[in-house]
Amino acid sequence: MGRKLLLDKAHIEGIRYYDTYRANGGYAAAEKALKSMGAEAVVEEVKKSGLRGRGGAGFPTGLKWSFIAKPEGVPRYLVCNADESEPGTFKDRYLMEFIPHLLVEGLLISSFALGANRAYIYIRGEYAWIPDILEQAIAEAKNKGWLGKNILGTGYDLEIFVQRGAGAYICGEETALLESLEGKRGNPRIKPPFPAVKGLWGCPTVVNNVETIAAVVPIINIGGDEYIKFGIGKSTGTKLISACGNINKPGVYEIEMNISVEEFIYSDEYCGGIKGGKRLKACIPGGSSVPVLPANLLLKTAKGETRMMTYESLNDGGFATGSMLGSGGFIVMDEDQCIVRNTLTFARFYHHESCGQCSPCREGTGWMKKVLHNIEYGKGKMSDIDLLWDIQRKIEGNTICPLGDAAAWPVAAAIRHFRDEFEWHVKHPDEALTRNFGLAHY
Ligand code: NAD
Ligand code: SF4
Repeated sequence: MGRKLLLDKAHIEGIRYYDTYRANGGYAAAEKALKSMGAEAVVEEVKKSGLRGRGGAGFPTGLKWSFIAKPEGVPRYLVCNADESEPGTFKDRYLMEFIPHLLVEGLLISSFALGANRAYIYIRGEYAWIPDILEQAIAEAKNKGWLGKNILGTGYDLEIFVQRGAGAYICGEETALLESLEGKRGNPRIKPPFPAVKGLWGCPTVVNNVETIAAVVPIINIGGDEYIKFGIGKSTGTKLISACGNINKPGVYEIEMNISVEEFIYSDEYCGGIKGGKRLKACIPGGSSVPVLPANLLLKTAKGETRMMTYESLNDGGFATGSMLGSGGFIVMDEDQCIVRNTLTFARFYHHESCGQCSPCREGTGWMKKVLHNIEYGKGKMSDIDLLWDIQRKIEGNTICPLGDAAAWPVAAAIRHFRDEFEWHVKHPDEALTRNFGLAHY
């Protein structure tokens, strides 16, 4: 059995509530951080742990914290990105729903380390029932003296606020999130300046994902050196993976980052194998924005090495033969799945969610959707495949925020690895239509 650091107490009845959380070791890390460590030591411990951002980018958390500007008399903010909207990703929802105090405790320790007196949780609008759970946990923590003024008599003050989003995927991009939090339309800002220098209301701000902030609690409890031992190389600690698609046991799993992709898919502890005993066709390992991998490149790298559930191994070979761990949204496809249809589904999503600020993304996502629609519905030409390739190339790297790349990469990977399937659709327009069983997209 893999060891757990975040979900180890998730099965305990009543862990959602303060008394049970506290009785099971909750807030011990906060007490240690505030009373005996001090802010700088907490930052050092997080640096030592090698913790990387769990939202998808994998940026070193301690480094991000150390970038925060500290001009005299200017407030600093911590913003928790709970706008979990990446298709296939639902691990933060689990954490907030079942162990909300882990997030509240993580926010307390992280805000203390950053010298922030206000922290915000910006939560996806569709997670309609979770803000109440968070508000209750925050109220309980405040009632017990973990929030508010002069926490534990240390002179440190902190308030936590919950803000609901309104259903826009783009508001998960950190600068769009900040715009939305300020009450404006969620349009991404050009970076730099990064939020650590100029963030919420122009003040230094750290934006961290839910899981990242929660991971600070075990790091303080066990120490950075111990945390490292749960992973390999620069992939330290544990990672929450939301597994879905054609598997026997979809759900949220906490893995040590030292297991293979094969073990994750086939062992009974995790996905339990492919549903109905079918063959594995492909997998998107890190949420819809990352490249799809065919089965032969998923279990072994192009060098023939075992593919591991780590940032490095999943990216081995770059995008030519690899993918990304991303947000841990693990989407498994069996032999019956149509790659063209999947790619069209994602293209529709990105077109719908584009904020429209930059023309390569605004126009390109719609164009890709139209071409993919034609191919999938038996109206495509062979030249459309090259046209698609050309459009995605012109989007990638030419936009303000990563949504442009996120729209381009799945199309590129689908053509790179499954070009024959696109050609098959063009050559068999009637069969392509009859293969469109199931729910129509329009
Ligand atoms: P990024 O690499 O641009 O930035 C990562 C983080 O590091 C940011 O917080 C950024 O401000 C900070 N940073 C980078 N360089 C810095 C510097 N020099 N100084 C200060 N701070 C610096 O990536 P991103 O836009 O934050 O995230 C993209 C990822 O988000 C994608 O790879 C995708 O996997 C993921 N994603 C996740 C979801 C979800 O629901 N979890 C949704 C969409 C996308
Ligand atoms: Fe908006 Fe797309 Fe440009 Fe991002 S890449 S700023 S979503 S138009």
